[in-house]
Order: sequence, then structure tokens, then C-alpha cells
Amino acid sequence: MGVPGKMATGSASVGRSILVVDGDPSVRDFLAGALRERYDVALAAGVDEAVELIGASDFDLVITDLGLPDATGLTVLACAKSRDEFVEVLMISGNATVDSAAAAVNNGAGSYLLKPFALNELRGRVEKMMAMRAFHLKSLMLMKDSDLVSPAVKGHVDDLASLYHFTRKLTLTLEISEVMRITLEEANCKADAKFCTIEVCLPDYREIYSMPQAGEFDRAAQGGVFVENWADAFVGIDKERFQSGAVPHYVYRGRRGEFSAAAAYKCLNFPLVVTGKTIGSLTVWLAANADIDERRSRYLHILTSFTSPVIEHVYLDLQTRLQAKTDNLTGIANHRYFYEALEREIARANRKKSVFALLLADIDDFKAINDTYGHQTGDAVIVDLAKRVSENIRTGDVAARYGGEEFGVILPESDPVGALAMSKRICESISGTPYAGAKHEIPYTASFGLACYDGNNPVKKDELILSADSALYKSKTDGKNRVTVAELKG
Ligand code: GH3
Ligand code: MG
Ligand code: MG
Repeated sequence: MGVPGKMATGSASVGRSILVVDGDPSVRDFLAGALRERYDVALAAGVDEAVELIGASDFDLVITDLGLPDATGLTVLACAKSRDEFVEVLMISGNATVDSAAAAVNNGAGSYLLKPFALNELRGRVEKMMAMRAFHLKSLMLMKDSDLVSPAVKGHVDDLASLYHFTRKLTLTLEISEVMRITLEEANCKADAKFCTIEVCLPDYREIYSMPQAGEFDRAAQGGVFVENWADAFVGIDKERFQSGAVPHYVYRGRRGEFSAAAAYKCLNFPLVVTGKTIGSLTVWLAANADIDERRSRYLHILTSFTSPVIEHVYLDLQTRLQAKTDNLTGIANHRYFYEALEREIARANRKKSVFALLLADIDDFKAINDTYGHQTGDAVIVDLAKRVSENIRTGDVAARYGGEEFGVILPESDPVGALAMSKRICESISGTPYAGAKHEIPYTASFGLACYDGNNPVKKDELILSADSALYKSKTDGKNRVTVAELKG
């Protein structure tokens, strides 16, 4: 991790120097013109030039375009951050997606601006980032000066400094896995724990994250808790058991039995509380003979009070993103996600010259079900169909409800023979067993239209949908409860 040169030499000139990186000379000139009055501005046309300049001098702020001629702005970001952890980076882009913005923020960019932007917006953003930079450097200086005070006071100041670094790292990410990793790493380190676990109990999420302080997890000692992949020393564990709701709070108690080696550890449990509500807990597993001192405990209490709202926030964020893709009634993908997935699949098939299949389904005589049993039961039949489709497809296939009682399934890499077999299986699974409601057993059927896409013979998305739809229509006119395969012209 780099140490900013300015910190060592004092901060008189902090907040003045800017590096602008953009492949377009007119953008570079525009930015330089807008900023030169107040700041020292250096210019780079690409990653190579930027890397050289960053290596040679200390910048307070780097403004970089995301799409550079020789690489992406993320390379500039990484280079700047490795030299000086506290350098501010403003990412700009002309064609940004939410994902690219998130990638920039997750990699440490302090801010993100979309082209075209107003001058005032740019200047405001730059001023704010310069103020942040000055604040961070000043804080570091104060912490460094604590070397001069008594050991007792120094202990407190060190804790404050650690919390400062910890919260700063936490605010630089929107990813759940990263929030968990940062928190577990800090808890492990401060508590000198064997390992630490975080359990999250939110209405839609019951998850456990766990991390050893060093080396491998001792699987035998964990008595039945599955650990999938320690390659990156971090993983969510035993999700399935937790999701089933069997474990309210305590990690090693549940249907897999008692934690057999519990005696080998001493454990400290810190609830994660947000506005009076417990959303999970942090558990610190220490060696059995470890001392639990006051200061360590207090530190972890404060740490959880910082991390709890962040954990809640990232889960709410995840939920919002998932809800935008999910159909409320059935829980499978919605109309919007279906079309996005179809576009992605077409692009992939064209690129790889591969095949996939599109299956459309419509429940037969559904009006009669509504009329006979009521709309609510009709809804339950729709949910039942979604369940049967989901049970018969493979991981990676996308099932969506794209209309009232109409469904679409994308079957990546499925050839016509495989896709037809799967479609028939879904069709038969519906006609073979009636829907079993609380009050009624309702036999029902559905009709299907199957279109196979070949990347060697590209057609437009609408054409593909139309041919699957025509095949579905033919299933209806031929007597329903069947699969028809579309003729696709390339
Ligand atoms: P067909 O065999 O030709 O498909 O006949 P159908 O009766 O199923 O006719 P169609 O597919 O045209 O009509 C679907 C009906 O489904 C119309 C509408 O009242 C009903 N419907 C649409 N969305 C919903 C929903 O979300 N819930 C319920 N219960 N009914 C719905
Ligand atoms: Mg219909
Ligand atoms: Mg219908």
C-alpha cells in the first residue's frame, strides 16, 4: 500500500494537483481549461502516459475516462490507488452502465460522472473530492502524532485509527461479499480469533459468512459445517441450512447436530443491531485458553455498530436489484429480465456460433379456470405452472413469466432435439398431474411453441419470438396440450 508523499512532507499544497486522463484531445483541453484556474493540471492521453506520470509525482485527484484507447480507466484507478491509497479518483464515461459505475466504486473511485456533464457539476465534484482528500491526510497526520503520547492514550488512539481505516474501507464498496470480507478480516485481526462468522437474518436472507484468520479452515473441528471453496479464503457457508430457517442465530446448532468441537473454542457474540432491530450477529471464535480483554470486546462492539447499517444497506440494495428482475406472483424472472436475457443469449450465440432454444407457453382454457374457481385459484395455477417449469429445466436456463398466463424459457446451448425433449417433459408434467389446491384438484394443460436459434444463421429477436409464438398458436389450433417446433428462416 502506498504512502502519499504529501503526508510526509506536510499538507500545505494538498488539494491542488490533478491528473486528467482521456483519449480525446478535445475532452482533455476542455477539462484542463475548466480546472486550470484553481488547480495544477497534468494531462495524459492513455494508460501508459498516466502510469508514468502517477509514478513520478503525487496527485491529489485523478480524473480518468473509463474507456481509454489502450485499456480501461480501471487500470489507471488501480495504479493511482497502489501508489497512494488516499488519492481521489473521479471516473468519467460516455456510455456507462450501472455495473461499470459499481465496478469503479468497488475499486475505490470516489465519484462517477456521466458525459455530457455541466461545468458546474464537474467543479463541484472536484471541490468536494479535494476536501475529502485534505480531511483524510489531516486525519493520518494526527494519528501519526499520537506516537508522542502515553501508552494508555496511544492504545485508544490506535483503536480510533483502526476504526477510521475500517469505516473508510467499508464505505468504498457496494458488494455484500466485500463488506463481509472487510468486517471478518478486521474482527479476526483485532480479536486474534481462530475464525469469525457473520450471520445475517433478514426477512429474505439467512446467510452465514465465515473466514479463518490464517490458513485453512479446520473442517473436522467445525463439525458438519460445509465449507465450499477456500481458494480465496472467503466463502458463504452452509447457506442451505440457514435458508431453511433452522438456525435462528447460533451458527453451530441445527439439524446437523451440536458443534462437536465447541469446547476447543471460546466464543464472543456481538449482535448486529440497526435502529433497535437485530439483523444478525458477529461471532468471534477464540482459542479455548485465550483471554477476553475489555478493550478487545469494546472494539468489536463499536465495529459491529459501524458494520450493521452497512450490511443492512447492501442487502436492501441487492433486494431492490432482484425485485426489478422478478415477477411478484411466481418469483421467477419477469418480462423485462426475459427480454434482456434473450438479447444476451442472441449476442452470445452469434459470437460463439452456438445454438439455443426459446420456448413459449400459454395455459389452455385458462379463462374457464378463472370463471369456475375464481381469480385467486387462477393465480395459484399460474404459480403451479411456474413451479413445474422450474423443476424441469437446468441450472442456467431462464424461466420467466412474460404475460398473464404466458411463460418463456430460454435454454442456452440446447440443440433442437434436446430442447424438444425438455419441452415435452414440461408439457407432460403439467398434463400428467392436476394442480392440487387446498379445496380443489384442477387438471389443466398448456400449449408450447419452440424455436431454435443458430448463431450461424442469425435472425432478429422479434423474428425469433414471432416464430415461437406462431408455433404456440399452431399448438392451440391443433388441439392444445402439445409442443410445436417453429420453422426458422435464417
Ligand atoms: P387458450 O387456450 O386459447 O389460451 O384460452 P385461454 O382461456 O387461456 O385464453 P387466453 O390465453 O387468451 O386468456 C388468458 C386469460 O387469463 C385472460 C385473463 O382474464 C386471464 N389472466 C391474465 N392474467 C391473469 C392473472 O395474473 N391471474 C389470473 N387469475 N388470470 C389472469
Ligand atoms: Mg394467453
Ligand atoms: Mg391461455
